[in-house]
Amino acid sequence: MALERTLSIVKPDAVAANATGRILAMFEEAGLRPIAIRTVRLTTEQAQAFYAVHTARPFFGDLVKFMTSGPVCVSVLEGENAIVRNREVMGPTDSKKAAAGTVRGRFGTDIEKNAVHGSDAPETAAVEVGFFFSGAELASLAR
Ligand code: ADP
Ligand code: MG
Repeated sequence: MALERTLSIVKPDAVAANATGRILAMFEEAGLRPIAIRTVRLTTEQAQAFYAVHTARPFFGDLVKFMTSGPVCVSVLEGENAIVRNREVMGPTDSKKAAAGTVRGRFGTDIEKNAVHGSDAPETAAVEVGFFFSGAELASLAR
């Protein structure tokens, strides 16, 4: 097993629903430690850059509008196999297909408004953590 870090975002729908704490608690209960947390309002340019891999997708414009529609809570989660673990707790992209015990099953609405983002691989996690946090902000809590 490997100690990893992953980038989590509580999206505008879930922040507006005042679910940030409940969602972070679900990650904590799964053994993931939030080692840095910040609530921010993304600019259009930031949302476009963060989701650059999806630029050509038909939903890109709507995704950027959604991600800039209100504040988001960005955090770095640390733990064993944090990247896969986080995505297990999140559930699948389409909230309608997500099990009730997952974050998206509990707080998501559909395939777009799905409450959370989580990095999908070690390479993207490193880039996404660096997008929001500097090294000095990341105090490892691992013992
Ligand atoms: P995930 O967030 O599960 O990694 P993707 O990386 O494929 O999913 O997509 C990024 C985000 O774009 C999704 O979380 C969702 O908000 C939105 N999205 C993905 N697919 C669609 C779609 N078919 N229609 C509308 N929005 C979508
Ligand atoms: Mg993704």
